[in-house]
Amino acid sequence: MDKIYFDNAATTQIDLKVIEQMKSVMSDNFGNPNSTHSYGRSSRTLIEKARKTIANQFNASTSEIYFTSCGTESDNMVLISAVRDLNVKTIITSKVEHKAVLNVVKYLEETESIDLKYVNVSNDGLIDYNHLQTLLKKCSNKCLVSLMHINNEIGSKLDLNLVGNLCKDNNALFHSDTVQSIGKYEFDLSKLNIDFIVGSAHKFHGPKGIGFVYINKNLKLNPFVIGGNQERGMRAGTESVHNISGMELAFINSYTNIQENNNHISSLKSTFIKKIKKDIPEIKFNGSCDDDLLSSFSILNICLPIPKEKAVLLDFNLDMKGIACSRGSACQSGSITGSHVLNSFLSDEDLNKPSLRFSFSKHNNNKEVEKVINVLKEFIDSN
Ligand code: PLP
Repeated sequence: MDKIYFDNAATTQIDLKVIEQMKSVMSDNFGNPNSTHSYGRSSRTLIEKARKTIANQFNASTSEIYFTSCGTESDNMVLISAVRDLNVKTIITSKVEHKAVLNVVKYLEETESIDLKYVNVSNDGLIDYNHLQTLLKKCSNKCLVSLMHINNEIGSKLDLNLVGNLCKDNNALFHSDTVQSIGKYEFDLSKLNIDFIVGSAHKFHGPKGIGFVYINKNLKLNPFVIGGNQERGMRAGTESVHNISGMELAFINSYTNIQENNNHISSLKSTFIKKIKKDIPEIKFNGSCDDDLLSSFSILNICLPIPKEKAVLLDFNLDMKGIACSRGSACQSGSITGSHVLNSFLSDEDLNKPSLRFSFSKHNNNKEVEKVINVLKEFIDSN
């Protein structure tokens, strides 16, 4: 049975050339990058080359890029350090952020008495910019806005330019969780009013366990992981050279082929929308994921017209047919609380129906789209 992988927002298949690159680094560049001999120097060269590649792509400076272990660590670093080192007293975020942000800001509310405000999210899963402006205007102390660029569950897209300008006008710092957009969107950080962005290699066909954070050079933070002087003292610990080098190659591949890949993925998503509307007319799209302008071209989250009793068999059925996607309903398998994102804006009626997230990559094709919709239709039509 040919399997179908439509869960690329969870993680992506690592590029074969990236694996080759990492293997060669592991065998040929095993020196500690902090050693001054030739072994160390060749590892150091790889790390600094990767830093330059990422900085150049974003029109940033190499001194603004730090390597971390993942997106979650990068988000933690930004939020915790901003409170500790930049005198941030208020954080404005939304209830549809990833847990890597939501649970950290709640922790900061409990332990640092941060004033935590949530900006309203519409029934379409979109941030209410007017409400954000009102919250910013009311804020009388140092404020940090943390809003993700692309929502990992429903794909809704934030206007980074608009939010950056609002933050600048109100003297607030701006962090955007860009884990879902790195490799798919181009950013010119010299033009955007944005202080922190984050990335994670496994979301763009790179290895797991490696990420990065961009920190605007005008902001002075203290070390996040204390120890040696790695990452200019900000994050101690011997650097994972093979992971950094693998991430660099995956990053280069993504940006070199960005137009071609984005067009391909985008056309898969529109084909999916067109066919499912025709074959299952009662389908609902969660958030604004069927709107090109308001959502990412790679994520689709649908609410299926299936009664609760029958929905329990859906995951099993898809899995039996070799289809991998993500369950984003009110009651996910293994979770009683369900998706905090859908819970925050769907009606009770829709929360009682199963929702699924499909997220596409350059490796997917139209035949797979067709097969998945046929399987869904057969399941809905079956007794
Ligand atoms: N932020 C977003 C929007 C994500 O989608 C994810 C991963 O799903 C993360 C943060 C966490 O990234 P990582 O898995 O690298 O810790």
